[in-house]
Amino acid sequence: MLLGNNTRTYKFALGHALLECASRGKTSVTLEDLAMSYSLEIAKHDEYPQGSGVDEQSPTDFLAILERERAATLDAGQPTEALVDAAVRTMPGMVMQKFHNVPTGFVRDFEFYKLEKVNGIQEVHFSDQLMQVASSPALTVLNDELSARWEVVQASFSPDIRGTFQYQGLVVSADREFLEHVRVVQGSNVGRRRAISKTRPSLTGFQEGLCFHCKQTLLGAARTPHVDHVIARAYVERNFLKSDFWRGVDIDGVWNLVVSHAHCNIEKRDKPPTAKMLQDLRERNDLAIRSNVPISQTIRLVTNSPSDRFYGQLTNALRESGFAV
Ligand SMILES: [Zn+2]
Repeated sequence: MLLGNNTRTYKFALGHALLECASRGKTSVTLEDLAMSYSLEIAKHDEYPQGSGVDEQSPTDFLAILERERAATLDAGQPTEALVDAAVRTMPGMVMQKFHNVPTGFVRDFEFYKLEKVNGIQEVHFSDQLMQVASSPALTVLNDELSARWEVVQASFSPDIRGTFQYQGLVVSADREFLEHVRVVQGSNVGRRRAISKTRPSLTGFQEGLCFHCKQTLLGAARTPHVDHVIARAYVERNFLKSDFWRGVDIDGVWNLVVSHAHCNIEKRDKPPTAKMLQDLRERNDLAIRSNVPISQTIRLVTNSPSDRFYGQLTNALRESGFAV
């Protein structure tokens, strides 16, 4: 989900549906049951379900039916029969087949479900791995991450934003709650900001759900994890960092923000970054670069890819200012 080359967003809906159905505790459901959950998710979320350059839809295409049935589905709080039928018909050959595909280099041995026909009824059998995830405390975090990811990918398809991500990427709101898209209105310097997704779950996945500082899980943290700088803003603000490098590098950018336990962040506060932290930051960012627009592009615009040169300059800039990294 994090790294898939999504040109559509169906996988996110299937992800939510699988987690929802598996969290009920039974190891299998009918395809129709899964389709109910799936199509409701997609009706709730999916304003722009596909990127440009995706083949034209035929009238019987799932999207065309979704468009027709969305209002009635949302009114009733459950998918209409026509929508469920369309999902049952299209899911096996489409999203269910592609769900297990991950890009080269990320292939792991996993399988979340098997589709089987039992006495003429199509059933979805969940794997132990899926049952484990769905019954673990990770469920909430994973659902949040999934939603955050979905919003980010979907935003990159929306007509008023599409394309500008290529040039601008995303910014982080002042309170760090949201990743935002800034649209500069022509002839004016005033940007219009639009919240795209929550910052924390958008970044947590790239840290594999772990605190940036202590590398322990962020699950069940007593307090909401913090989003904060690796290279503290104070250094730049107090002009401790003298190198030219800092001109044009946004210290509040996603590239410099990490998720950590509240107490780990407080402990770290304003201490200089260590070589290990810079290395970890780079790994997190390089992983994000392998994901989809716009997060990928947001980081790439700062660090480039490959990122050797950027982190080399960053280390030098810190050294010039007297930090031992
Ligand atoms: Zn921690």
